[in-house]
Amino acid sequence: MSTKRTPVTVIGLGQMGAALAGAFLDAGHPTTVHNRTPEKAAPLVERGAVLAATVAEAVAASDLVVVCVLDYPAVRTLLDPVAAELRGRTVVNLTSGSPEQAREEAAWAAGHGIGYLDGGIMTTPPGVGDSANMILYAGAPELLAEHRPALAVLGDPVDLGADPGLASLYDAGLLGLMWSVFGGWLHATALAGADGVPAKEFTAVAVRWLRTVSWFMTTYADQIDAGEYPGDDATIDVQVATIAHLLHAGEARGVDGRLPRLHLELMKEAVAAGHGGDSYARIIEAFRK
Ligand code: NAP
Repeated sequence: MSTKRTPVTVIGLGQMGAALAGAFLDAGHPTTVHNRTPEKAAPLVERGAVLAATVAEAVAASDLVVVCVLDYPAVRTLLDPVAAELRGRTVVNLTSGSPEQAREEAAWAAGHGIGYLDGGIMTTPPGVGDSANMILYAGAPELLAEHRPALAVLGDPVDLGADPGLASLYDAGLLGLMWSVFGGWLHATALAGADGVPAKEFTAVAVRWLRTVSWFMTTYADQIDAGEYPGDDATIDVQVATIAHLLHAGEARGVDGRLPRLHLELMKEAVAAGHGGDSYARIIEAFRK
């Protein structure tokens, strides 16, 4: 079996960039690194990375250049002066930003003959290198196919297709989903905790429940795409009645009720519009302005 690994360059060695470079090193890729503050490279150099003194040197070392810095303006500040050196190479931008910024960056790269993939890292640094975690890619399926073996060492590569804005769009939406789940979980954990249930005990059951919830979501996604929300499993009317128990339990225990009240408000709007007999998926209309 060949053990030859392609050379990679990582620009940006903050918490995330250092984890990315570490994963490449662990997988045996010759890894060149660069950071505005070069001292941060020391632990990686100890593990075998080569420190490039300049961005130009870093870029010249590899055909695959991964960038992970604070924001898109920082990416442009770093890459614009070396656009000529980047021609014919592939930049994988794993910096977080908006879909609009990603599309602008892709256009900038195309204008300079630079291959460009935009990415979203769906984990924190300790989760980098674990194939259970996703890294979203958008902008150039053929480049992802070419570099998949190297990029797969960072996490499971998920191809979102040719629109370079989609990794950022999914990333933003998925973080919103995470905060909503965190909110619901923390509210429920406070509720159970008020009667002495330890968070760990409650969370073991909550995590199992999330699997069932994900099954509901998959069913409702088909309804949303079809634009029809048959209430043949559970209606909004029934859930208005059910959420009253949650509000009551919270009030009785002095638990903050803002979150369930928001859900109730959205459900009541749907009922008032005559959709009480529909499934919960109907609530998507409240988010569509
Ligand atoms: P961080 O630890 O604060 O590191 C920021 C990096 O950006 C450092 O390398 C910093 O260089 C560099 N930088 C900032 N401004 C710069 C500039 N003007 N010119 C050159 N370099 C500049 O942040 P991080 O956690 O690694 O996050 C990096 C990116 O990954 C962000 O876009 C973040 O949203 C994304 N991300 C992070 C996580 C996470 O859990 N941490 C998860 C997913 C995505 P210096 O070292 O010289 O300051």
